[in-house]
Amino acid sequence: MSSIEVAGATIDTRHYIDGKRVASAATFTNTSPIDGSFLGEIARGGQAEIDLAVAAAKKAFKGWASLGPKGRGEILHRIADLVEANIETLANLETMDNGSLLRSHIRGVMPRVAMNIRFFADWAINDLHHASFETRSHTNNISYDPSGVAALITPWNAPLMLATWKIGPALAAGDTVVLKPAEWTPLSASYFADLTKQAGLPDGVFNVVQGYGREAGAALVAHPDLARISFTGSVPTAKTIARAAADNLTPVSFELGGKSPCIVLEDADLDLAATLAVEQYDNAGQVCLSGTRILVHKNIADAFATKFAEKAALLKQGDPRDLTTDIGPQIHQVHFDRISGFVERAKAEGANIVMGGEANGDLGGLYYRPTLVMNPAAGSEIVTAEVFGPVLCMQTFESDAEAVEMANGTEFGLAAILVSGNRSRADAVAAQLVAGTIWVNCFFVRDLRAPFGGSKKSGIGREGGTWSFDFYADVKNTVVSPNGWKE
Ligand code: ADP
Repeated sequence: MSSIEVAGATIDTRHYIDGKRVASAATFTNTSPIDGSFLGEIARGGQAEIDLAVAAAKKAFKGWASLGPKGRGEILHRIADLVEANIETLANLETMDNGSLLRSHIRGVMPRVAMNIRFFADWAINDLHHASFETRSHTNNISYDPSGVAALITPWNAPLMLATWKIGPALAAGDTVVLKPAEWTPLSASYFADLTKQAGLPDGVFNVVQGYGREAGAALVAHPDLARISFTGSVPTAKTIARAAADNLTPVSFELGGKSPCIVLEDADLDLAATLAVEQYDNAGQVCLSGTRILVHKNIADAFATKFAEKAALLKQGDPRDLTTDIGPQIHQVHFDRISGFVERAKAEGANIVMGGEANGDLGGLYYRPTLVMNPAAGSEIVTAEVFGPVLCMQTFESDAEAVEMANGTEFGLAAILVSGNRSRADAVAAQLVAGTIWVNCFFVRDLRAPFGGSKKSGIGREGGTWSFDFYADVKNTVVSPNGWKE
């Protein structure tokens, strides 16, 4: 069977290579995290399918590159139009496949998918200019040229949103793409491939190979014909990919994990602080940016904890298709077991779990209760490792300097949230935090013009605005002499 019906949408379960559907003898099983129901058998690619896809992307490159930003932009806008016309379908599909809230998909995530495509298409047309400058009467002309085949490897926590965050700039830059979506959430990428066909994207410009990371993913990143590798996922996988990329010296852009702090200074608006802290349970904690370490000034810790508990008690856990649900299931049994393993080990070490700490078994197999670990031992696993579930830790500090030291005290540096009532104090603390994004008295304000990425082990490089093109494009300087001209 080469197609399945999911949430009213027909999804082709085969790969999408050179504008055609390609089957594999092997398949993998896809289930819904909502209730464990069987969704379908999905074509499981490996070296052969990757070779086909990279060859198709390589063949399509010249034609796509030659269209220029405007020609490419027209097609990319048609793709964005089709995404917008299919928001409900995409939202329902993604919710079935990855268990995130339907409410979020409809209101925020899927509109953002369209915006990702539109924004980078327009940026390439209107904003990707570097002023020329003179060197002893010679002119330096800087251009952003297409670079070749971009391999995109994406995770399961926001499948189409994170994929288009890469697809948008890669295609706008004139690169062609081979996407390997996460094996737990392959469906939206397949549906998106159909939309690109409908929009008239030339065959071979965008390809999707489904399969496991260790098979299709590993074959892709080791391919010698890639110009770029962009990956979002875990640190161990990034290390494996970096080793494969090194053999071909393929440039990489990595967006990795986090253990971000949510710092509440003594002068913070406590209500705002508690609201922001509870938001860290978003997407059942499966967000790389989450501020999972709540650091609170000792003098306000009790009052803050009371407010936090009040707000957290209002969170409704349940079926993510119900628009009143706040927290859905975890993505997969393997991931669920990993989360509960972290909490059980913390318990065994004597951690004080004041909320949650167990499955919400009434709802089904993969629902884990929002959990709060109070004052975990400094340096312990639960407060240093990325759990990627609805598990927050709360610790106290006695001075701004100590808050900064604790905030910076992990191997990660993706984001930080800082809550304070005093601008100059907040500025001083923010300046000392080591992270790609600092949110002061807010969370998740994301502008596609802004640089996004991680410090330390949270990533390599920045994407967003021209930073994306610095990666996906070949930046070239053409130095023109004033001499030697005949006309
Ligand atoms: P997680 O642990 O959150 O699932 P991973 O980093 O393992 O995160 O997975 C993110 C993406 O990386 C997925 O698409 C996965 O298939 C892919 N992946 C996993 N291992 C490899 C690998 N060795 N080479 C290339 N891609 C991989």
